[in-house]
Amino acid sequence: MLRFQNFRLDGRIALVTGAAQGMGLAFSEILALNGAGVAMWDVKGLTLKTALATMLAKGYRVASYAVDVSKADEVNAAVKKIEADLGPVDILVNNAGILRRTDFRNITQEEWKLVNAVNVDGAFNCCKALIDGMIERKRGKIINISSSAGRSTSTFGGAHYTTSKAALLGLTRHLAREVARYRINVNAVCPGSIDTPMVQRAASQKEIEEAIEKIPMGRLGRAEDVANLILFLASDASSYITGASIDINAGELMV
Ligand code: NAD
Repeated sequence: MLRFQNFRLDGRIALVTGAAQGMGLAFSEILALNGAGVAMWDVKGLTLKTALATMLAKGYRVASYAVDVSKADEVNAAVKKIEADLGPVDILVNNAGILRRTDFRNITQEEWKLVNAVNVDGAFNCCKALIDGMIERKRGKIINISSSAGRSTSTFGGAHYTTSKAALLGLTRHLAREVARYRINVNAVCPGSIDTPMVQRAASQKEIEEAIEKIPMGRLGRAEDVANLILFLASDASSYITGASIDINAGELMV
């Protein structure tokens, strides 16, 4: 029998990395708005505190943790704290990411490692810390925030950024195949150009206007546009989707 689902997440616990601002904050809010308890992680302690206060003032069930996702020991310790504070994690959104604009010839070993440590190792560390529990409970949703960069090349970032976002798509597919039998869905989301502090920092107003000219729908994306997709992927309504890389870019990249 075909059962139609709604997007409610009551009783679920979600972990969103890079949750202090930009898309991560919007993802945290939409998940909380739909009933989930949300653990918000970020390296920016102060910004995270402000974000937490806003979320608490709206009456959401949220907690924040200062965590650098590139450090496995910090990730493992913080997962234990979430389990004690909120309960076991059902939904993981690997959103924390950094972008560097450097041309290939000027990328140093250090910068290459840094971008990949946050964008790729960070997602690996979080998946590793949570996967056993998800397998045990036979339920889980993992959503990796890749980028159009991972499907093509980055508009503003360098080769290290593009490489890291492509790597996330490989991790998504492979992990999805291994854990599908435990009813765990692993998917990647590939946003185009979204109006967040990352883009505002990386590009000048003129460059942003030039980028908008290449977007068929004629505007940058908003964090909320992507948040709606995250809610769908976190909900039971997406239970037959796994290993997918889902584009959300207003027609900027059609593949
Ligand atoms: P943002 O810079 O506004 O927010 C990213 C957050 O991640 C920040 O709060 C930052 O402090 C946090 N973070 C960075 N390193 C961290 C670490 N080591 N541990 C924990 N947290 C860390 O960026 P955004 O635009 O909201 O991007 C969110 C995600 O979406 C990123 O992975 C980014 O690569 C991806 N993305 C962004 C765009 C875009 O156009 N904005 C497009 C495609 C993909």
